[in-house]
Amino acid sequence: MHIDRIEAKSILDTRGRPTIETTLFSGTLEATASVPSGKSTGKHEALELRDADDSVAQAIKNVNGEIATAITERDFNSLDELDNFLISLDGTPNKSRLGANAILSVSIAAMRLSALQENMPLWQAIAKRAGTTPSTPRLFVNVMNGGAHAGFPSNKFGTGKLPFQEYLLVVEGKTSETFPIAQELFAKLGELLWKPGVHNNCGRLASTTSMGDEGGYAPTFDTLEKPFELLAELVKEFPNTSIAIDAAASELFHDGVYQLLGKSYSPDELAAIYRELVERFSLHSIEDPFAENAGTDFAKLTATLNSPSTPLGATTLVVGDDLTVTNPARIIEAAKNKEINAVLIKPNQIGTVKEALEAVRETYNAGWEVVASHRSGETSDTFIADFAYGIGAHGLKAGGFAQPERLVKYERLLAIEHEAETR
Ligand code: PEP
Ligand code: MG
Repeated sequence: MHIDRIEAKSILDTRGRPTIETTLFSGTLEATASVPSGKSTGKHEALELRDADDSVAQAIKNVNGEIATAITERDFNSLDELDNFLISLDGTPNKSRLGANAILSVSIAAMRLSALQENMPLWQAIAKRAGTTPSTPRLFVNVMNGGAHAGFPSNKFGTGKLPFQEYLLVVEGKTSETFPIAQELFAKLGELLWKPGVHNNCGRLASTTSMGDEGGYAPTFDTLEKPFELLAELVKEFPNTSIAIDAAASELFHDGVYQLLGKSYSPDELAAIYRELVERFSLHSIEDPFAENAGTDFAKLTATLNSPSTPLGATTLVVGDDLTVTNPARIIEAAKNKEINAVLIKPNQIGTVKEALEAVRETYNAGWEVVASHRSGETSDTFIADFAYGIGAHGLKAGGFAQPERLVKYERLLAIEHEAETR
């Protein structure tokens, strides 16, 4: 591959914050990629380079300057060679010199460019590169936002009104069937939340504008169970649907205890809550049930929820996000200690497509599931949909339906289904 020219610029994400978009030019072809941005970011993630004024001007300068000069001087025999070159050009363990956002924008655009050169759909090029069998991911649709994504940060005073960061509905099947079901569920939930009297005052939206960062509703509840009771009512009407959460528990962890709705819980007390929720509401998965360095607590919960004696018969996924940060070495470590049984893969946590695919490989080597994921600050780039399909992910987290930047990912999955059926 030879890249003739690179152009990076600033665009705005769903929170109105600047992020980077990069276009690569090669002969008559060009490919563009933009990079999302997290809010509840793990401490061990690669570094998103931001300037003091919150812009990404330096990251853009790095792409248009140093990276462009170095890359356009060479030919690359493979995408892995290009990604390795970017990694060594940066030279730091967490891509803090050039910025993981700068590097990933080039890495994804190059993956897209290569698919164009091979005249292949992106998902197929990803599958070929990864050696995976493409398949349709379950939709992990964000329906209610809590925690940091709803302006309800947990603190030691427990002001959060919806403590877990994400309440999701999982829908399994072909996208052309699951997407309409998910839309119907999303609309029904909205009706229930806007008419609280109809539903025993289960939930209440603070106002008609109460939507969270990920495009789901952001209601308030006065108990931990009520949001689950509401979702359980909805899923019982639809086959192949279930409830999942992202506790994002690093955000709940203060002074050695977890703070939920104004009360403190030890790790064991929190584990007992999860167990009860799993048993009562048949949770499909729990992401980040504990803080990012609490691997031992993850391992205990994974063993408890997946012992054959549990009422669900060992089917609950315990998903690592801040724990594993799409980092192959951290996934290997988690596998050694049996900390989890599924991994969230967010390419911008590690900074190149090559390393994200290595993280997928290590997850599969451990015998675990992959859930591919967007970030809470998103762009209209749909790479993650092709990625999820190409690697045969168990699921795709792409947000709620109230933001176009989330909808385009689902629409891309629909288009992929069509492409795959008509090839
Ligand atoms: C998450 O925690 O899974 C998530 C999508 O949020 P963020 O992008 O803020 O990390
Ligand atoms: Mg998470």
